[in-house]
Amino acid sequence: MKKILILGAGESGIGAALLGRKLGYDVFVSDASKIKDCYKQELISAAIDFEEGSHCLGKLAGIDYLIKSPGIPPRIPVLREAEKQAVSIISETEFAAKYTKAKKIGVTGSNGKTTTASLIYHIMDKAGLDVCLAGNVGTSFARSLAERDYEYFVLELSSFQLDYMFEFHPMVSVITNITPDHLERYENSMGLYSASKFRICQNQTSEDYLIYNADDTNTQKYMQNHSMSVRLLPFSISQSISGDGAWVKDNDFEIQINNSIMTMMIEHLALQGKHNLQNSMAAAVASRIMDIRKESIKESLTDFQNIEHRLEFVTKVHGISFINDSKATNVNSTWYALESMNHPVIWVAGGTDKGNDYADLIPLVKEKVKAMICLGVDNSRLIETFADSVNEILETQSMKTAVERAYYMGSPGDVVLLSPSCASFDLFENFEDRGNKFKFAIREL
Ligand code: ADP
Repeated sequence: MKKILILGAGESGIGAALLGRKLGYDVFVSDASKIKDCYKQELISAAIDFEEGSHCLGKLAGIDYLIKSPGIPPRIPVLREAEKQAVSIISETEFAAKYTKAKKIGVTGSNGKTTTASLIYHIMDKAGLDVCLAGNVGTSFARSLAERDYEYFVLELSSFQLDYMFEFHPMVSVITNITPDHLERYENSMGLYSASKFRICQNQTSEDYLIYNADDTNTQKYMQNHSMSVRLLPFSISQSISGDGAWVKDNDFEIQINNSIMTMMIEHLALQGKHNLQNSMAAAVASRIMDIRKESIKESLTDFQNIEHRLEFVTKVHGISFINDSKATNVNSTWYALESMNHPVIWVAGGTDKGNDYADLIPLVKEKVKAMICLGVDNSRLIETFADSVNEILETQSMKTAVERAYYMGSPGDVVLLSPSCASFDLFENFEDRGNKFKFAIREL
């Protein structure tokens, strides 16, 4: 019987364990922390052995694969030892992909992965295709596949997953953009980080498609220095594209695939803002490749329901709007959030700083932000950067206080925007917890 060791007992690790078990593997799951009760129950019900609290090196003996969950840092002792023993270390996505003949649409990028993957899924699903949305969004690919196979999988892929993918071969890949994020895992090198994103198309051939952002400098840089045989489909909101791809013309965007042009009015898109225009264009290009009818694509892009925690309008209290953009965990995503604001902003920012350079935000902050509330354990870098750009800066470590202060500082017509630019782990469990606490505090006003 083939043996697999799975590191990490979160959504992807448990998914891999369930799939491995279904395929008849001898599966062992190891987590250096305490395993959440719900996941433990799943392992017990499926009769899968596990350990928690540490990784025992002895478990490496005789294994065929080591499946590494994306959150696990690459240099921990058990991984070094596995490398020494020439064990094949792969991600859960790579593992699952070996066991399906489904056509795969892979979506990566620094920002916009969930939104774009969800848009593509929505369009395909409404067009009646047998499709599943999985990966870094909600249910893991392996868990979905363990439940049932589909004709298509739309997969959101992070660079941590791509780093351990070798044979994965999507029919369509999308790189939404490449801007600084998680650089601590890439020796602070944009080159290494970009290369990680481009692994999504490492096995693509001239039969396949890569949809990419022609306006993105890091993407351009990488492509200038690497040749690729995959068919290229650029999208741009600032230049026209000759040949197949997508571009903006006046109040519309246009898509050309195989000499057929689709035109849609930008104001009809369900998701507004420049970043969402890019996401919608990428999703429409992917859908046109699959020959989905133009009318059906337009309808789906119009009726798509926004996803929680991404520029999510919460409510208005006495004329003050509250917007939850808790998923903005890096500078670029906050840039787009501020860019899309049309009213004076009370900006709630801060959290775990990943070595951010906030300087790009200064012009937008000067133009749009009337007050700033720093919500983090250490706010010094934010305060240093914006002290000369914002009249009023407050600090707190409580979401309740942040929301109350923002509300008292606001006037009718203002917007309170939670768009932290930082990870959430200093004060919250994750970005969902942060966004939910924001919404809860608003309801308490
Ligand atoms: P990801 O899955 O890559 O983290 P999401 O779709 O969840 O991306 O969005 C994360 C954050 O980035 C949100 O704040 C969202 O408003 C913003 N965002 C979404 N699409 C883009 C884009 N194309 N460019 C920049 N920021 C974006």
